[in-house]
Amino acid sequence: MILDEFPVLVDSSLQTDLLHGESFKDLEKQTNLILETLKKFFSKEDFYVGDNLKEINQHKLDAQIDGEDTLSFENALEYLNDLYIKNTIAFHNPNYVAHLNCPVVLPAMAAEIIASTVNTAIETWDQSTSATFIEQAVIRWISNEFKFPESSDGVFTSGGTQSNFMALLMARDHYAFENYGVNIKQHGWFEEVSKFRIFCSEKAHFSIKKNAALLGMGYDAVIPVKTDNKMRMDPNELVLAIEKVKQEGNIPVAVVATLGTTDYGSFDPLETISSIAKDYKMWLHADGAYGGCFVLTDTHKSYFEKINSVDSITIDFHKTMFQPVCCSAYLAKNKQHFQYVSYYADYLNPIEDKDPERPNLIEKSIQTTRRFDALKVWFTLKTLGKETIGRYLERVHHLATSVYNKIKDDAHFEVAHQPELSTIVFRYKALGVRENKVHDRVNMYIKNTLFKQGRTSVASTKLDGNIYLKFTLLNPNNTEENLFEILKMIQQKGEQYKTNN
Ligand SMILES: *Cc1c(COP(=O)(O)O)cnc(C)c1O
Repeated sequence: MILDEFPVLVDSSLQTDLLHGESFKDLEKQTNLILETLKKFFSKEDFYVGDNLKEINQHKLDAQIDGEDTLSFENALEYLNDLYIKNTIAFHNPNYVAHLNCPVVLPAMAAEIIASTVNTAIETWDQSTSATFIEQAVIRWISNEFKFPESSDGVFTSGGTQSNFMALLMARDHYAFENYGVNIKQHGWFEEVSKFRIFCSEKAHFSIKKNAALLGMGYDAVIPVKTDNKMRMDPNELVLAIEKVKQEGNIPVAVVATLGTTDYGSFDPLETISSIAKDYKMWLHADGAYGGCFVLTDTHKSYFEKINSVDSITIDFHKTMFQPVCCSAYLAKNKQHFQYVSYYADYLNPIEDKDPERPNLIEKSIQTTRRFDALKVWFTLKTLGKETIGRYLERVHHLATSVYNKIKDDAHFEVAHQPELSTIVFRYKALGVRENKVHDRVNMYIKNTLFKQGRTSVASTKLDGNIYLKFTLLNPNNTEENLFEILKMIQQKGEQYKTNN
């Protein structure tokens, strides 16, 4: 249909509903109302109001939308408060110790407001101008922390999963090009790729397998390598696994070393793995989604001595640099390798327009439209500095160690490992009970009832097929007293289960 006349707009919608100079005062007013509402969220005692199936079902109904019935801003905000804000999980609350969610630092929040309000899209120079240099500068800064050379480069991503995807893609395409002269980006799949194998520890993040599948290589292309008693990849096992793969006629292409496993915070031994990868001419990727920012600490700096021997690095600022989601980066030691993802689109970044003084970041990204997430890190560094972040991380590590010391000799608990970063995996052990099946049930009961009652959120994971509980400590505002209090709740729930069953 072709409209012959201008469509009629509701009232003066163009003046009041779109953000521009005239309507900015409305944004100010609305922002104040939003802050009032959020203030209540940030002042409440509990991390969660608790789980009530009747209310959950009501929320499901209240969330439905038809796009026709509308409310005033004030009423919609109140509606949203009842539906979502009041009922959601407060990561800054010290009783939230479940997953890798951090409280955020104020300057990051300020930067988030700026980036969202201006709405910069970072992918091409003509959309982002100097914002481009801010992202580049943050990439340079973190690359320097890892002692990556000037010839390295990086790009912000949506998270560790996407960063790991880029690593596997580069590893695959680089191997194919170097060894077979095949340009996968241009010509796609070829026979040998079905034999490509990627090695990572059995405790590595699931995104390695998932990404291998997304890359068309399948879960089976990923070979899990056994870990030692500290949950680190055993280099001898790595060599055995590589040799086995070769004997089977398959092709070892890449190794992923995890710097801080999601469950245990364990660091794979980089130096040894690096020389193995070199011997077999494999790509070495370091997954530092969780542990990467610990390079800023005094306590863990030494773990990173050999980090510049790797080909690529994943780092999640939204986990361990106290940044709002999303905020993550992928670094490659040789910037030439970004050619495996670059594309020159006529409408966006024609190759004729390539200008080193005015770069287009899209040439390094697998995304097109992309948020200006780098600003958060830049503003944090500019105002707080990296030392503050280092101290926060040292503090959460210390908290994990305190919990470990508290329960390691307590007969009611069994700890799985000594904390390397800021997680601790353990389980409650009902005295006199020997069957793991029973322990599984008790620990699931503890986790689920404490969550549903809104008292504390603890994670769970499996070790050797058995259920364990996990603290992920990323809140520097937490205290030993509070964590010991959570341990008490766990023990009480465990005892309650016994008397009820
Ligand atoms: C969290 C995590 C990831 C995935 O990162 P997202 O930002 O959640 O996509 C990858 N690797 C490790 C080791 C992680 O802990």
